[in-house]
Amino acid sequence: MAERIHSGIAAARERAEPFCAYVHDTAAIADHARRLRAALPDACTLLYAVKANSRPEVLSALAPVVDGFEISSGGELRKARAADGDARVVFNGPGKSWAAVEEGLRAGVDLFNVESLTDLARLDAVAGRTGTRARVLLRVNTRRPLVTGTHQMVGEATQFGIDEDQLPQVAAAALAAPHIDVEGLHLHSVSNNPDAASHLAFVDRCLALAAELRARHGLPTRVLDIGGGFGVDYSGDGRHFDWDAFARGLHDRSAALTGIELVIEPGRSLVAEHGFYCAEVLDVKHNHGRAFAVLRGGIHQFRLPKVLGADHPFTVVGVDSWPWPVDRTELRDTPVALCGELGTPADVLTRATRVGRLRTGDIVVFPMAGAYGWEISHRDFLSHPHPDFLTT
Ligand SMILES: *Cc1c(COP(=O)(O)O)cnc(C)c1O
Repeated sequence: MAERIHSGIAAARERAEPFCAYVHDTAAIADHARRLRAALPDACTLLYAVKANSRPEVLSALAPVVDGFEISSGGELRKARAADGDARVVFNGPGKSWAAVEEGLRAGVDLFNVESLTDLARLDAVAGRTGTRARVLLRVNTRRPLVTGTHQMVGEATQFGIDEDQLPQVAAAALAAPHIDVEGLHLHSVSNNPDAASHLAFVDRCLALAAELRARHGLPTRVLDIGGGFGVDYSGDGRHFDWDAFARGLHDRSAALTGIELVIEPGRSLVAEHGFYCAEVLDVKHNHGRAFAVLRGGIHQFRLPKVLGADHPFTVVGVDSWPWPVDRTELRDTPVALCGELGTPADVLTRATRVGRLRTGDIVVFPMAGAYGWEISHRDFLSHPHPDFLTT
């Protein structure tokens, strides 16, 4: 890693530009995914949620290890197919466009989640027009949370899924729709849950809900998609999701899972740990008695610390060469705020973490940046289309 950073710095210096890069260890990502996959029962399907990191090299590293990709837009579909032309693809999301649905059906998307009556009708209409059938999972927004984490998708008032009270109506419409095959339920509920025991309790609640809907509405439940949401340890306090315990719990539930394909689609937990955001220090200074460092980069490239609301860990890679004809400035043994170059006081990556020494020209490296780093920080999140620019 350090070697890659130093060669990156050398290349940047040749252009007289500061160094700023995302570095992904794609071999480590593939190894990690292989380990998680191997722990699961064979009846489980492991998909990768592309939105966590859709860099082509990352998708290519994961393609041979996972069973397919979870996507939410035509853009993500194209990236998934570029990594593996035959990859199994599951299309989710509360706002599917007509164009994206048609692209998905023509490209052989295996499963669509259905988030509303409109979503269902649109899928049925496009499938009819294109002479295909759509295999669907109904996404349920349950009355009460099934599990809790940092972002709650269902079990409360959100834009996600079908309200449990409206489920009889949507289920009946789905079962009657001429170009739709209902395969089961989609229950992605949460993000960044650190607790394997509560995630197993969530699986039990999903199984109970599936049994209830099967009995009450004659809903097929061959496929149960429990989404992602497995937590990672950003603060280093050791509270990481115990995947082996989770996988053992699934093995223990093999009787309850008979006849059900359990789809698991993590994003964050597959890629977070093997990505690094590196940024060169452009200036260090004191204002109002506090120390600041200004970096090449900022929240437009790495918004994750803002979203998590905590000081992100970082390390300093000291760079001894200093080719510029001015004195080099430094901070010593002091808490420092690491800021970006966006010209707004909001552009703060960490507020007060103590550094031993930090000089202009050194590199700050933020670990745990492989998921929702570059992706959530810019206008290409979920690879959705850009707006038009109109004038009057
Ligand atoms: C975002 C998302 C995922 C992945 O979530 P992680 O928290 O990154 O594991 C899986 N499924 C759906 C439907 C999603 O929206």
